Amino acid sequence: MKKVYIETMGCQMNKSDTERMLGMLSHFGYEETKEPKQADLLMINTCSIRQLSEDKAFSAIGTWGKWKKDALAAGENLKNRTNIKIGFCGCVAQQKANEIFKRAPYVDFVLGTHKIYALPEIIKKINNDERVCECTETNATEDNLAKEYNIERVKGVNAWIPITEGCNNFCTYCIVPYTRGRERSRLPEIIIKEAQDALNAGFKEITLLGQNVDSYGKDLEDGTYRLAQLLKDLNKLEGKFRIRFVTSYPTDITDELIQTAVELDKVCEYFHIPMQSGSSAVLKAMNRRYDRETYAKIVEKVRKMVPDVTITSDFIAGFPGETEEQFTETLTAIDEFELDYSNVAAYSPREKTVAAKWVDKYIPEDIKDIRFQRLNDKVKENCLKSNLKYVGRDMEVLVESFYEHKGKMINSGKTRNFKTVHIPCEKDLTGEFVNVKISGAKTWYLKGEII
Ligand code: SF4
Repeated sequence: MKKVYIETMGCQMNKSDTERMLGMLSHFGYEETKEPKQADLLMINTCSIRQLSEDKAFSAIGTWGKWKKDALAAGENLKNRTNIKIGFCGCVAQQKANEIFKRAPYVDFVLGTHKIYALPEIIKKINNDERVCECTETNATEDNLAKEYNIERVKGVNAWIPITEGCNNFCTYCIVPYTRGRERSRLPEIIIKEAQDALNAGFKEITLLGQNVDSYGKDLEDGTYRLAQLLKDLNKLEGKFRIRFVTSYPTDITDELIQTAVELDKVCEYFHIPMQSGSSAVLKAMNRRYDRETYAKIVEKVRKMVPDVTITSDFIAGFPGETEEQFTETLTAIDEFELDYSNVAAYSPREKTVAAKWVDKYIPEDIKDIRFQRLNDKVKENCLKSNLKYVGRDMEVLVESFYEHKGKMINSGKTRNFKTVHIPCEKDLTGEFVNVKISGAKTWYLKGEII
């Protein structure tokens, strides 16, 4: 068998795409290697959310290009490696398309996020020494062709299943609508089959993925089969397992969805609701469809309806034009809404987006860095505060990993409400549900004793 190495950057959606690509390649005689130097086919699945990530991708393929050149020069001595192929995939590919060939002439194919199901055709072509760029946009029907392929899932506890692709929101800082295209929902029967296959393979948790997971189904034929219904159907699958869904756009969270999540035993008490800024003026500039007060009401409602819920968020520091006062509103929002954890990022201008054009409003790098640090400190403070609430409680943990730390063996896993718990125990309990008493809290995790 030939060997393929895929380097995956960025979000969970990219990781899921990589699993799909590995599944397709397995039908064409490729097996995965974790060692790039062993690979006949080298692929990078890129992320374009930040410039740094894009730069890293070009640096990685620069090294591969050199290997390819050396392999070609060495000819017979390297028999199987005289024909190394290189693929550039993911969000940067979707955005830059043919430009990649100019910048990296040793690349054999460029594959955008819309066309991953064209991979088998592309492999045939590059093996005939053609160079291929496949970055055209697709429609939902084509996306749903996914059902023809198995998924080569990395063995684990949690299976990530995309239910929507793309986004229609066009937040002024975000590249996703340009790289992932307009919102498209996958068919429920395909999603349910994929979930059943994952459960049959031993996975214990299903996470439904989408840029706006709660607008699932709006574009499907009858328009009435929405996320709440999908959760109900998945909840009917047999066996003990958990269901999560990310990411929620604040104003798309309906009362029906919250109520359904409360009623279904397998759906966990966890909502990821990105706020992005605590200032209504900045939210408006970001083209987010809510203000601070609206976000507050949504969070209040979720907390009221879902006992013990964990609510996490995302924030950007140093958005163009953000004043010190507006930045402070973000810090106070984290406190006021008792956000349990937040991902934070310093603003990074992305080509094509509206905000990238506001060069005169860019925040100087040093100020942006300081705000980013202050935001991180605030997140840490609140994370510890949130964790301390659970000390003394009995909780169920799904163990995800087993490792040695300072001479002790630790099982690490998640509670239903997405708290990480470290459990000292000599036995590997990966994939098992265990009941623990929470004996302590640190910033990023809880300590638990098996009961
Ligand atoms: S909702 Fe906004 S931030 Fe999220 S993917 Fe869509 S455009 Fe990007």
